[in-house]
Amino acid sequence: MASVWRRVSFCLCIQRILGGDQDTSLEPADLSNAIIIADDLSPADTVLMQHHGILAFATEYGGSTSHTAILARSLGIPAIVGLQRVHSYIQADDTVIVDGSEGIILAEPDERSLRYYQRRQSEEKRYRSALSKIKALPSLTRDGTSISLQANIEFPEDLKAVKRVGGKEIGLYRTEFLFMNRYQPPDEEEHLEAYRRVIQEAAPVTIRTLDLGADKQIVDNRQHKDSFITNPALSLRGIRLCLKEQNLFKAQLRAILRASALGEVRMMIPMVSDQSEIMQVYKIIEQLKKELRQQSIKFDPSMPIGVMVEVPAMAICSDLIAPHVDFLSIGTNDLIQYSLAADRNDQSVNYLYNPLHPAILRLIKMSLDAATQAGKPISMCGEMANDKRYVRLLLGLGLRTFSVNPESYLEVKQIINKTDMSRLAPLAVRMLDMTSQAERAELLEAINYEN
Ligand code: PEP
Ligand code: MG
Repeated sequence: MASVWRRVSFCLCIQRILGGDQDTSLEPADLSNAIIIADDLSPADTVLMQHHGILAFATEYGGSTSHTAILARSLGIPAIVGLQRVHSYIQADDTVIVDGSEGIILAEPDERSLRYYQRRQSEEKRYRSALSKIKALPSLTRDGTSISLQANIEFPEDLKAVKRVGGKEIGLYRTEFLFMNRYQPPDEEEHLEAYRRVIQEAAPVTIRTLDLGADKQIVDNRQHKDSFITNPALSLRGIRLCLKEQNLFKAQLRAILRASALGEVRMMIPMVSDQSEIMQVYKIIEQLKKELRQQSIKFDPSMPIGVMVEVPAMAICSDLIAPHVDFLSIGTNDLIQYSLAADRNDQSVNYLYNPLHPAILRLIKMSLDAATQAGKPISMCGEMANDKRYVRLLLGLGLRTFSVNPESYLEVKQIINKTDMSRLAPLAVRMLDMTSQAERAELLEAINYEN
């Protein structure tokens, strides 16, 4: 396995970004303060962007819940993905404005547009600073229901942003970024060091085991033309890859177990579709615990182990699974793409990627009820939990733990603090039986109405 780690060399990255051989002579310095226009960018490319001081990017392909988009948000890089024919509108050396929040790109803006965007930037600053006043408030609804608010992180460095908004709990620590842009996978010590940095400053910390595969490929396809995978999202991804490449998995599991001796750690397994996968993980963990005891290495013997509910089969069987795990977390990014058969990375089917589809709402409700019935904690860590429009709907369906990106944290808290729970449940449940999108939009408006 070691020989196939993908390393996006800077030249390759530039070549792909700029789409031509003639550009490979560019030095990294040439790209600082640049705005990148590309066909597509992988999550690994996005990580490189920050290292090289790239200001913003826009791509022709990609969806708003792709890992590339999620990473850009986490790194604070303004970005637009899935902007069709963006290449044909932008020329090299143009002055460009990238408005990531509205999905607008402007080439060669006139004076008025420049002034407008300067004003928007200062307004945004003022809004953020006003919002920071609720940092110390508890996240409590108007009628006194306590809602747990956790944060999603990709890198230990993201903790700064979490602390800035007053967050303490990590509901999703994605670990696959430890693997990107390098030849060799991280060893146990490197994993442990990354986890230690987070555990020192947050509690609990929910470390998600590797979710490589799909758009977070590590295999360099140029070296492995024979192993071309036609549908990576349905292939060896997450726990499937880990159970196949057990040495890789064991290094991470040992590090997570060791990290559990340093603070409050929970371990979460992604892409589970069958109970047998959970049982296999338990077996490996038991074996590793035995080894650690023999080596007199400390760990927490009762570290909670949970699963992500992101494959529809998991949501449908959540009543069967919940009794066997310590906690669950709903990953709507994948749950939506798999339930609606709409690739989250493909802008051409973005119009089908709909969190309000009754199938999605029913799967969410089913999972929340099953966890409650089994007395197991359940959260939501997908992008749906970050979306201001859906916070009250989710509260009405019974969600009590949100794990969100640091930049959405205070906005979600503000909505929670202004919410009256008593009227929500009957409204939210009505949404489960509505087939018309227009009617659902109307009901959502009623749910979000502030009185
Ligand atoms: C999800 O699928 O909702 C999720 C949180 O995981 P990821 O976005 O990393 O696939
Ligand atoms: Mg997922």
